[in-house]
Amino acid sequence: MFRQTKAALQKVRYVSLNGQQQTWRLQSSSARERALSYQQGQKIHGFTVREVVAVPDLFLTAVKLTHDRTGAQYLHAARDDSNNLFSVQLRTTPLDSSGVPHILEHTVLCGSERFPCRDPFFKMLNRSLSTFMNAFTASDYTMYPFSTQNSKDFQNLLSVYLDAVFFPCLREQDFWQEGWRLENETPTDPASPLVFKGVVFNEMKGAFSDNERVYAQHLQNKLFPDHTYSVVSGGEPLAIPDLTWEQLRQFHATHYHPSNARFFTYGDLPLEQHLQQIEAEALSRFDRINPNTEVPPQPHWTTPREDHVTCSPDAMAPDPLKQNTLCVSYLLGDITDTFEGFTLSLLSSLMISGPNSPFYKALIEPKIGTDFSSVVGYDGSTREASFSIGLQGMSEDDTERVKHIISQTIDHVIENGFEEERIEALLHKIEIQMKHQSTNFGLSLASYIASSWNHDGDPVELLQINQSVSKFRQTLKQNPLFLQDTVRRYFKENSHRLTLSMAPDESYIEKQTQAEEQKLQRKIQALTDTDKKYIYEKGLELLDAQSKPQDASCLPALKVSDIQPSIPATDVTLSTAAGVPVQLCEQPTNGLVYFRAMCSLNTLPEELRLYVPLFCNVITKLGCGDLDYRQQSQQKELRTGGMSVSSQVIQDSTQLDMYEQGVLLSSSCLERNLPHMFQLWSDIFNSPHFDDVERLRVLVMSSAQELSNGISYSGHMYAMTRAARHLTPAGDLQETFGGMEQVKFMKRIAEMTDLSQVIRTLPRIKKHLLNPDNMRCALNATPQKMSDSAAQLESFMKDVSDNRKERKPVRSNIIERPLDPLANSGPSRKLISELNYHPCQMKTFFQLPFPINFVSESIRTVPFCHEDYASLCILARMMSAKFLHGEIREKGGAYGGGARAGGGVFTFYSYRDPNSLQTLSAFRRGVDWAKAGHFTQQDIDEAKLSVFSAVDSPVGPSNKGMGRFLSGVTDEMKQSHRERLFAVTHRSLLDVAERYLSVGQQTCGVAILGPENETIKKDPSWIVK
Ligand SMILES: [Zn+2]
Repeated sequence: MFRQTKAALQKVRYVSLNGQQQTWRLQSSSARERALSYQQGQKIHGFTVREVVAVPDLFLTAVKLTHDRTGAQYLHAARDDSNNLFSVQLRTTPLDSSGVPHILEHTVLCGSERFPCRDPFFKMLNRSLSTFMNAFTASDYTMYPFSTQNSKDFQNLLSVYLDAVFFPCLREQDFWQEGWRLENETPTDPASPLVFKGVVFNEMKGAFSDNERVYAQHLQNKLFPDHTYSVVSGGEPLAIPDLTWEQLRQFHATHYHPSNARFFTYGDLPLEQHLQQIEAEALSRFDRINPNTEVPPQPHWTTPREDHVTCSPDAMAPDPLKQNTLCVSYLLGDITDTFEGFTLSLLSSLMISGPNSPFYKALIEPKIGTDFSSVVGYDGSTREASFSIGLQGMSEDDTERVKHIISQTIDHVIENGFEEERIEALLHKIEIQMKHQSTNFGLSLASYIASSWNHDGDPVELLQINQSVSKFRQTLKQNPLFLQDTVRRYFKENSHRLTLSMAPDESYIEKQTQAEEQKLQRKIQALTDTDKKYIYEKGLELLDAQSKPQDASCLPALKVSDIQPSIPATDVTLSTAAGVPVQLCEQPTNGLVYFRAMCSLNTLPEELRLYVPLFCNVITKLGCGDLDYRQQSQQKELRTGGMSVSSQVIQDSTQLDMYEQGVLLSSSCLERNLPHMFQLWSDIFNSPHFDDVERLRVLVMSSAQELSNGISYSGHMYAMTRAARHLTPAGDLQETFGGMEQVKFMKRIAEMTDLSQVIRTLPRIKKHLLNPDNMRCALNATPQKMSDSAAQLESFMKDVSDNRKERKPVRSNIIERPLDPLANSGPSRKLISELNYHPCQMKTFFQLPFPINFVSESIRTVPFCHEDYASLCILARMMSAKFLHGEIREKGGAYGGGARAGGGVFTFYSYRDPNSLQTLSAFRRGVDWAKAGHFTQQDIDEAKLSVFSAVDSPVGPSNKGMGRFLSGVTDEMKQSHRERLFAVTHRSLLDVAERYLSVGQQTCGVAILGPENETIKKDPSWIVK
């Protein structure tokens, strides 16, 4: 969601780099070439250039500078990518769990010197074409990044960010709203009980309802017990009410200072302009201080330690008797040693990734637990890195066994080392990651360098990944036992290691509630009557401030006229390969080829539909042809950038009761590996292995565990899917494939003692799905490589032609649509049409062991091409920003909430919400607000900017043309939608609010996921699950 804390949960695998450039300009004076002309020692706008380095592997030039007066550090990555990024990062190293850095992260965004209006950060979302805006609190730094493709917008956002970070108002009222406060439960009623409120307070209560998060937090706190990593930077819910406003301001003064700051800019905009603006608007007002925020090295233990913690029971756990977690965590070396960090993260992958890794074989395959522990592998987010290994979903009785296996496996690695092919596969993966162009390269870089740079590591050295790769190869050549020696040193002979177990406690939630109640009572008892009166008045004041219309005119804004009237077309060619339709899209892919195939589900018997996600999950992991599953995994890593299969429900763009159902195969590879990649797919089509029940069980358990863990994180998605279930035929299938129904189904499968019936089902599904008769394919590749790629695809389709069978669809209501919308004949997509479909009203409540709710209401509306769709999109955005945000987040204390249009429905939602039924009435008040029409042209224009920034968000070369391939949405259809968005007026918004959202106008559905709810239980209109 919007603002998130990463804290300890981030599972940093080694290089997670996903590159992309928007517009690959082959100009002679490209941004990266221009940057090469800077000279070491050169002075620019108060900064001195320290280093200029070309990094050809990432297509960029790095320029390192320092600010002369304050000592602020600066890194610029010049790259020919128009999705420019800015980030400022402060080293925030708290020594208590009051959540001061996290609350500060929220409050600095509540208004600043030049922009004193409330919440400029959220307001800028609607005044900008940003492609990303956020703020993060990690364990030891706080980061404020944004990105945009528009240079005017960049300057606007930079002003707002600089002012927020360095000159925030930090009003007492902001602290109450975002941090914590005592307030009457009903603010207008002084007789109602006093309770704790506050955005961060609730957010952290939500975060601590996630057992994986709880475990990760404890593990970090206990492995580093002597300094900042021993506290909860995000805030421990019961420690938050100890923080005072004065302490918050003090923390800002010492930590949010340029001398403690690192600035990063990325993209094709000129560096000088950034430096000038940053100097003029912020840095020139400061002198150097000594911020004293360094994290000292953790003193090493002389003996290993053990500890135990408890958590709440998991009602969705596949096996209620197996809910323990156990893991061993080792303290490793300093992350500022770039090569050591590279080696250790690579080593970590060798030890835990994929079915060929020793820990997968030793811990996962014997099925002692459901999956690895939530914290696993290398974590470089602390000054000294750590490595963790263990299991979740295990029985307490297996504790000793697991500990023994872990130490045995380490001995085994020290003795036997790793196969050379596995090392090659990992180095190949790094090569692919450097070449693959994602849409947020700048952001990936910012987070990639953040931790090491935060402790004064060299970010430029970190970017030179190929140097680490060469050094690694050389070291291994000189000493073939290099990896084994490293394992001996860091694991076998390392006495700084912690074994941490976690077990569910039936009374966990009760104890938490009690502790909170005690804390509350202690606070209340200390209050005099005057204090209580003061609290009541302050509560009213806050409510009043939150209800007042906001004047945001001090903020810079783009205009609707700054939005491009049309979008550049994406050219695709339609062709066939051995009778199968193919879409070819030439793109600057850096030598990678992307392959997709959409396979229809229309002939699959209905009773097998629930199995489709499971089939997708396992079909590329069970082995195929001559390869067992281990060899198959090895080949995938060695030859491809990944192969996956996912279920698809595609709402038709013109008819609400029509949809396409299928599965999508996707994979990518370096051009040279194309024959190998298609060979792997051929083997999966022609001879997949469906005989290994044990392998299937391992896959089933980990996917059931993953689904169960995901609910507390994406509960709003589950609530939205469920709310829309009975509104369209596609909604129903969405629930089957990806809703609570699927979660429960996977839980049932995971509980089965005998999976032989399931394994017999898989080949039946395969016959229907992997059938060239029901397929269409897409290739994205460079122009130079396209015809060769198409030829390879052709021979692949010939290889699998034996799977071609004409089968009867299970339903008669099939409609064909031409793939080329301009042609009346030729290849087509087959859609299911349920024109007699009757949507129905349904309210569903899922009782879950969380202290917070996820609430959603969904209303049946119109498909993409309908003339009202654009107005509904703008309306959803405007209601979110102008009404729902204030009601659900500011007043209601939820982490987030809003409305969105799409998929044939208009959906309200809330995220980590202390309220349930009250939020439903806030949704209804939102509709009344819209129908009353008390919104301005400015509000509409802001909503348009916000919608366009999503519509125009960058698309990487690997994904160009995909909308057309999957949904049949052409550039012309997109352009019409674009024009309708521009044309939305006050009147059309009122009109759609009335016709679609008014009670009784359209069918709606409601779903809530949350804790036991007495009111709902007593209300027979609810279905309680
Ligand atoms: Zn937060």
